[in-house]
Amino acid sequence: MRMLKQRRLVMEFGRKLVTGGLTTGSGGNLSLLDRSQGLLAITPSGVDYFDITPGQVVLVDLEGRQVDGPGRPSSELGFHLALYRDRPEATAVVHTHSPYATTLACLHWELPPAHYLVGFAGAKVPLAPYHTYGTPELAQAVAQTMRGYNAALLANHGLVAVGNTLPRAFAVAEEVEFAARVYYQAKTVGQPKILSSKQMEEVLAKFADYGRQ
Ligand SMILES: [Zn+2]
Repeated sequence: MRMLKQRRLVMEFGRKLVTGGLTTGSGGNLSLLDRSQGLLAITPSGVDYFDITPGQVVLVDLEGRQVDGPGRPSSELGFHLALYRDRPEATAVVHTHSPYATTLACLHWELPPAHYLVGFAGAKVPLAPYHTYGTPELAQAVAQTMRGYNAALLANHGLVAVGNTLPRAFAVAEEVEFAARVYYQAKTVGQPKILSSKQMEEVLAKFADYGRQ
């Protein structure tokens, strides 16, 4: 089977989306790109994560043409492709409907760095404007909003994260959801203290250093 290793990883991390509380039902999606082959493995549309087999993970080229897999690719294939075109270093995209990040996205808020782990995404988590799911307009808005960031909130929708590996993109999504939860909880009892841009610069420098080890 073509790209069996990548398809297995997509299957495994799809299950982790559910067990990690980052999505419900068949919501969200994820993909893994093999740049040497110019192909990405992406979750199929509308299939329960625990029913997905490696053979059901869909293979698509960078122009969006389906190469293998019995079903349709995720309805958000467009923003996966837009992100891979826009970011030469990205090889994985994770999209969630995780509850706290999505709560902020429904308020049309960005996520400021009340917790330093926002640094997984950058100096903050920006907000992409609302467009109907699965549209080219949403794909373009996501790619534009994420320039300079590894994650974005999607207005009235959810969260997107990228990484240079699938575990890394998944970790970005997890940490952003954690930071969104902490920010939300802090807002319910007081006014969270936001880290300064200098403090976040120090965090980002340490994260970059850690990534090189
Ligand atoms: Zn979605």
